[in-house]
Amino acid sequence: MGDPHMLWSSTYQASSDQNGQRPLNVDPFALWKLPSLPLLWSLLRRPHSRLEFLWNPTGSWKSLRDSHSSHRACWEFHSVVLCLSLRATCRNILRLRIRKEPAVKDTELYTALLRLRHPWRAREVKLDLAAGRIDVWIEHVEGVRFLCPECREPAAVYDHADEREWRHLDTCDCKTYVHARLPRVHCPQHGVRQIIPSWSSSDTPGHTLQFEALMINTLKECDVSGAMRLTQAGWDEAWGVLERAVARGFARKERRVPRFVNVDEKAFAKRHRYETLICDQERGTVEHVVDDRKQESLEAYYRQFTQEELAGIQAVAMDMWDPYVAATKAFVPGADGKIVFDKFHVVRIVTEAVDQVRRREHKALQAGGDQRLKGTKHLWLANEENIPEWRRAEFEAIRGTNLKTGRAWAIKESLRRFWSYRYPKRAEEYFRRWYYWATHSRLTPIVKAAKTLKIHLANIMTYFKHRISNATAEGLNSKIQMVKEMACGFRNREHYKTAIYFHCGGLDLHPRAAA
Ligand SMILES: [Zn+2]
Repeated sequence: MGDPHMLWSSTYQASSDQNGQRPLNVDPFALWKLPSLPLLWSLLRRPHSRLEFLWNPTGSWKSLRDSHSSHRACWEFHSVVLCLSLRATCRNILRLRIRKEPAVKDTELYTALLRLRHPWRAREVKLDLAAGRIDVWIEHVEGVRFLCPECREPAAVYDHADEREWRHLDTCDCKTYVHARLPRVHCPQHGVRQIIPSWSSSDTPGHTLQFEALMINTLKECDVSGAMRLTQAGWDEAWGVLERAVARGFARKERRVPRFVNVDEKAFAKRHRYETLICDQERGTVEHVVDDRKQESLEAYYRQFTQEELAGIQAVAMDMWDPYVAATKAFVPGADGKIVFDKFHVVRIVTEAVDQVRRREHKALQAGGDQRLKGTKHLWLANEENIPEWRRAEFEAIRGTNLKTGRAWAIKESLRRFWSYRYPKRAEEYFRRWYYWATHSRLTPIVKAAKTLKIHLANIMTYFKHRISNATAEGLNSKIQMVKEMACGFRNREHYKTAIYFHCGGLDLHPRAAA
């Protein structure tokens, strides 16, 4: 059997006729000339009669018949008619013959489309338009020897397994299925072994490699139910692809400890159920998802690695959450200088204090009929640069009215400048001044928040050594939120985790053909 690519290219050339007609594979002009030969011969033999016949404008059939060459002219006229009719007949015969003989057979087409190589070929193709389905049966050449999957040595065919079916990429809008009976070989060294065909692999049951890859790409772009609609697959089939892809990714994943780790919590469902996410800041991937946000949750991740491997961690960014601190101190050598409290989380503590001040003040103002703070919650919580342009004037007006909320807001905004310092000493000095201002503000929630920060200052200051934050984990969080929404809220915790690994794990998900 020839190279399928060659077959395809020749077919392509043959069918690229611009008029949309079936092309001729014989030069028709050469054949058309054949019936003209007797005419040419007679004209050359008697030029005199030729001129008489062609150039006699007033001549009639009678005068021609009466002339000394009338018989010759009459014969020549009939020759012309005969030649023309013969030529037309030849053309029709050629057309008919070409119509009956297709340029490429359906089995050859599918051998090429399925990229089948020796010894495999398509034996039969069945089209069921009503069912929107194409079935292709594949067979191998008789007497061929296959390589043993274990030792790659040629081995004789022992027997054939029962016929199996794989779904392939659709042909136009017809679902396409491939059928074959896979041979088993008898290897002198390894015994009877099943051959893995080139179009499938052992971990893509019921799918060809191309269809499995299409499903993975579709699932990457939309939720499971969307992928089901696009590929006409069932839930179990689509979810099976996703689970297999994650398992494949983990099997290929190299064992590694990130240099910069982000630890973050993620609410899984209502009723305060959490997952702990461990992310690789440099790669921007979720490395591990574990239930709850307890000390043992994070320890479950660290426990996979040796002390030497964990010593490779340079910094861990996390929330000010004592169980995470305890777990990291218990496992990571030199954790005291490696834990960095995430700057966004630190600011969030003060932002929450601002909100408490606002709520209390709004209540007090409302009692006196003052509605100044109504509908302003998000203005105080947002970073100054994020206040929408159309509300800026309104915000400036309220800020100028000497409210407690305005003072609390100014303390919060000034804290953000702390992380812009280059030298730790200067930053520490700035914090000292800020702390003095906050604790003398006579705003109880702000005083409380400032004291919390003071207690954790050592690991807030580590930022100036490692300069990492949970920005990666936060970015992934928004992606995870999207995953959660796409899946209509995972009721099954394991499904939720699998989907996170699929979308955010940075895993190598696609199946590969056997070597
Ligand atoms: Zn073998």
